[in-house]
Amino acid sequence: MKSMTCIICPVGCQLDIDQEMTVKGNRCPRGKAYAITEMTNPTRTLTSTVKTVFKDVPRLPVKTSSPIPKGLIFEIMKDIDDILVEKHVKIGDVIVKDIHHTGVDLIATRSLPSQNL
Ligand code: SF4
Repeated sequence: MKSMTCIICPVGCQLDIDQEMTVKGNRCPRGKAYAITEMTNPTRTLTSTVKTVFKDVPRLPVKTSSPIPKGLIFEIMKDIDDILVEKHVKIGDVIVKDIHHTGVDLIATRSLPSQNL
């Protein structure tokens, strides 16, 4: 039996899941799906920042376009440390396509001011 808190919504149900993937404590089906994913292939949406060349906006907030395997977060953070944005970007623009061969893109979560071009 493994216990966890469901992080899908603010209710935060306390979930118990056993080896047969029987889930208890969930108030909705999303909690069951979350618990099973946590047991089989835990994923997270990664949020971070990357460096830019612009002095007034030295860091650009980014996130993965969808959840990535939790076990790859450390490796992907190392990739993110090496990124330098040198041009204007809009919110939602792809900063790195298929980051770390996950099939998931790293995207900007804000725009860089165009006056910095
Ligand atoms: S089980 Fe459903 S209601 Fe409970 S925290 Fe998860 S998503 Fe929210």
